[in-house]
Amino acid sequence: MPIDATHPYDDDNIFARILRGEIPAKRVYEDAFAVAFHDIAPQAPVHLLVIPTGAYVSWDDFSARASEAEIAGYIRAIGHVAREHGLVEPGYRLLANIGAHGGQEVPHLHVHLFGGRPLGIMLSQ
Ligand code: 5GP
Repeated sequence: MPIDATHPYDDDNIFARILRGEIPAKRVYEDAFAVAFHDIAPQAPVHLLVIPTGAYVSWDDFSARASEAEIAGYIRAIGHVAREHGLVEPGYRLLANIGAHGGQEVPHLHVHLFGGRPLGIMLSQ
């Protein structure tokens, strides 16, 4: 069920619990600003999620409230993870769903990183 991205942050959302280590995840990267792990239901040969370590509901929330250091750290982590997985030369796709029309289901900002095959059209018609 898509979330309302204007809701306040829920400390018990599934990605908050992954950040705290309460739920296992196949982590591929972590630093002070970001954690990356495999999506539990991959939709491409490479399907990773990159999340900020701070408590932000969505891209909207993050872009409005995060510090310059958090924004730089998060964006650099996404690029780093893509390079580490050899995705730059073949190409890849980033996706952030925001709120109900975006189809966002987990209310902690996450960017999907898809790759490993040609990904086709951007949106289903
Ligand atoms: P959204 O629709 O919010 O953009 O994407 C949420 C993503 O989180 C989905 O692709 C879903 O498969 C993934 N996901 C949901 N629960 C878990 C979980 O417990 N662990 C991991 N690794 N991914 C999850």
